[in-house]
Amino acid sequence: MAAPWEDVLRNEAAVQEAARVAVDAALLAGVLMRTEGEPNASDVVNYAPFTLLPSAVPSALFEQAYAVQQDFNLLVDAISQNKEFLERTLASTIKVDDFTARLFRIYMQVLEEGLAQSVFLGINRSDYMFDCGVDGTSALKQIEINTIAASFGGLTSRTAAVHGQVLKVLGKSEEASRLLPNNPSKGLALGIVKAWELYGSPSAVVMFLVEEVQRNIFDQRCVENELWNRNIRVIRRRFRDVFEKGSLDDARRLYMDGQEVAVVYYREGYVPKNYDQQNWEARLLLERSRAVKCPDIATQLAGTKKVQQELSQPGTLERLLPDRAEAVARIRATFAGLYSLDVGEEGDKIAAMAIADPDRFVLKPQREGGGNNLYGEELRQVLEKIRDSPERTSYILMDKIKPQPAMNYLLRAHSPLQVSECISELGIFGVYIRQGKEMVMNKAAGHLLRTKAIEHADGGVAAGVAVLDTPYLV
Ligand code: ADP
Ligand code: MG
Repeated sequence: MAAPWEDVLRNEAAVQEAARVAVDAALLAGVLMRTEGEPNASDVVNYAPFTLLPSAVPSALFEQAYAVQQDFNLLVDAISQNKEFLERTLASTIKVDDFTARLFRIYMQVLEEGLAQSVFLGINRSDYMFDCGVDGTSALKQIEINTIAASFGGLTSRTAAVHGQVLKVLGKSEEASRLLPNNPSKGLALGIVKAWELYGSPSAVVMFLVEEVQRNIFDQRCVENELWNRNIRVIRRRFRDVFEKGSLDDARRLYMDGQEVAVVYYREGYVPKNYDQQNWEARLLLERSRAVKCPDIATQLAGTKKVQQELSQPGTLERLLPDRAEAVARIRATFAGLYSLDVGEEGDKIAAMAIADPDRFVLKPQREGGGNNLYGEELRQVLEKIRDSPERTSYILMDKIKPQPAMNYLLRAHSPLQVSECISELGIFGVYIRQGKEMVMNKAAGHLLRTKAIEHADGGVAAGVAVLDTPYLV
């Protein structure tokens, strides 16, 4: 992709001035994060890292990503209701991956007891990169779909205004006026509002289930404030609080400190380190309850890398979404090559292929949050070590997406201003609600563009690698 800002990038004085304006604009707009040193206090805060300039995104691919989001919502929801599919797909994984196994055990336990929950709220984010072919054309390829705790919808609702101002300072008002409005905070909140209404208890609250370390609280506050503005009470609690003070009544209504909870919105609970024995018990209590969990445990399992890999197998999408050939085609068009490393001849062949040519692939364990995948020489070494062990089935293999880099400045507190070669990842937020068997909401709720320097193979904003960005459609 040609960088639209070539002239600016070479003008050092203009860049310096624009960066000063950008940082202050971000602080004023509330593009904020707590500091690493004081992650649980707001006395000292900083701006969340972001690009100086918006990054070019091909408009056709941007539209394609929006157009397929409702299909992905339907797909995730269908998987979450398909016990046979989840059981079969995760069978090999749960033998070797303890975390997925524990989630799966809660899933089965809740099903055996019978679901008390009848309203289902999904908030997900489908992430893509623009794969550059040998002929120079770009294609939209899905990296993954996040079905739990998909973040940065709040802060990114505020970045377009910052980038608009930067472009104006740089004498590009015309380009500034072309930046798209984007408000996932509101879109996500409207999903929570609707779920809260359908739950049908006006005095009940919405509970944000939050981490022990809350550096990204402002991102969550953006969504929270949308709820308060609509007169819905929000409480913030950790698993530990649920363990100590949560309870269910006879109808499995969930109570926290005496308040009934209508919706539990997880911003926690997606990695092993979020759980000790008490937290697992708290998770089980929440899942057993009648409250609307966003997501319920089945939907969390639908977002595992193993499920993603299984979806790429011939016939799988057709079985999950019968009579929806167009949706299936739109979804499949975004898939990169995905390969199973399950025990057997096929898995042996795949492992050998990756060991012979590691730079073509990414090796992914069943983990979220960035920094877990393996690339290149490390991929080769790890796979060689486990190629003959069942341990390899805890991973999936994926074709590596190779986007065309572009130059930009990444603004980070206490870091020198320097130009970097960057690649971007586009996320589209999806929101849907099902009541019993009926879909009552199915929407795309905005986008997130994250950009990182090419020397980092992996990692998101929270992991300290990528920064917030705004798409500039070309
Ligand atoms: P996580 O659940 O940890 O976010 P992802 O699958 O999103 O796992 O991978 C983390 C990061 O690794 C992505 O944000 C992206 O930068 C990089 N990545 C993942 N898959 C690929 C791929 N197939 N090709 C290139 N980069 C990838
Ligand atoms: Mg990711």
